[in-house]
Order: sequence, then C-alpha cells, then structure tokens
Amino acid sequence: MMSFKIIAIDGPTGSGKSTIARLLAKEKGFLYVDTGAMFRCLGYAWKKQGLCQNDEVLRKLGLDTKIVFEPDGRVYCNGEEVTELIRGEDISLLASQISKFPLIRQNMKAQQRQLVREAEKIGNYHGAVLEGRDIGTIVFPDASLKFFLDGNNKIRAQRRFEQLAAKGESVSYEEILNALETRDAQDRNREIAPLLPAKDAIHVNSTNLTIPEVLSFLISEIEQVR
Ligand code: C5P
Repeated sequence: MMSFKIIAIDGPTGSGKSTIARLLAKEKGFLYVDTGAMFRCLGYAWKKQGLCQNDEVLRKLGLDTKIVFEPDGRVYCNGEEVTELIRGEDISLLASQISKFPLIRQNMKAQQRQLVREAEKIGNYHGAVLEGRDIGTIVFPDASLKFFLDGNNKIRAQRRFEQLAAKGESVSYEEILNALETRDAQDRNREIAPLLPAKDAIHVNSTNLTIPEVLSFLISEIEQVR
C-alpha cells in the first residue's frame, strides 16, 4: 500500500501557493488544506467581535470559531458562508494581525493536524497538501516533502491585484503592493512561527515560471518520494 504523504507548501502572498496547492491536490487525490483561509476566518470573526485583544477573548475565538471547508471549495465560518467575504484586503490584514497571537496559533495547529489525521483515517485520500506560512517548520515538521514558494514583490503584487480586480474589488496596484509588503514584513518578523523556509524545504522561485511549470516540478519531486 502507498503511504499517506503530507506535502507542505509555504511562502508569502502571491507566490502562487494556493493555485498550485489546489491543482496538486486534485491531480494527486490529496486533501487540500488552505490554512490561510482558517486565519482569514478568525480575522473575520474577530472583526465582528470588535477586535478585542484580551487573552480570554482570543482564546475563545480560537476555540469557538467553527471553520468548515466543503469539498467544493466553499468555506463556512460559524455557519455563515464566507468563501468570498474573507478574500478582501481588509481581512488579509486582520488575518495577519490575529495570526501573531500564540493562543490562536496553538489552536490552528491542532485543528490542521486533526484535519489531516481524519483524512488519513477515512482513507479517501492518498495524502494531504497544506499551504501556509509555518507548515514545514511548525505544523508538520516531518512532512514527506516541503516546498517554499517565493517570487519578486512586484510580480506577486501584480498577481494579487489581478485576482482582486477580477472579483471587482477597487484597489490600486500601489495599495496592493504596499499592503503586501506590510503583511509579508509582519509575517516574517513575528516571534512565533514566522514565515520562514524549513531547513529541508525545496525553494521554488515562481517569478518567471508559469503555473503548469511549477506544478509539474512539484509533481516530479513528489513522485520520487516513497
Ligand atoms: O495565505 P493567506 O494570504 O490567505 O493568509 C492570510 C494570513 O494568515 C497571512 O498573511 C498570515 O499572517 C496568516 N497565516 C499564518 N500561518 C499560516 C497561514 C496563514 O500565519 N499557516
């Protein structure tokens, strides 16, 4: 029997992680876990609660926020469909802010590990691909394979700009570049679980690569893992 593989894909905003991870999961029959969406849901729930930073509020938020991923890609937060609502720039920044709190991170790590354990137990998947910032370093340090996707800031901002424009959000390229640099700096410099390649991660710079090129590189690496 083939072993259940855990693939970690970490990297900054706009590096192509989400698109690649989703396609990879489909191609290989793996569970796809968008861990950024989990922090986005918390950012969304936190906003509704008035952005209070009190430990008890954060602990409750981490424990009580019910996040559900449907197989068709829809995301629910406390019973409300938030698939699109969590994708705006306001929620991006709140997700980044809330993700620096240890209480929140502990809880998300436990939930992410649980999702993978359940998928392995149910037996419908050949593996799991998780994308985020700390998957290879903290959540699954023993992952079968770890990738760190990166790319030039301006190109990443351009991708993010095109994504948001396609959804009808009216923000300028300059605003996006600014927000991306702020969020990356926040994610890279936080004390707990900063955005960082694991020592054994394979680095992929996606600046000049197409999505099919990155995808086929990842697949060829995964196929070499027994
Ligand atoms: O990946 P995405 O841009 O959706 O993530 C939103 C925010 O959630 C990131 O800027 C980061 O602060 C946080 N995050 C994190 N750890 C992860 C995934 C996301 O801290 N594993």
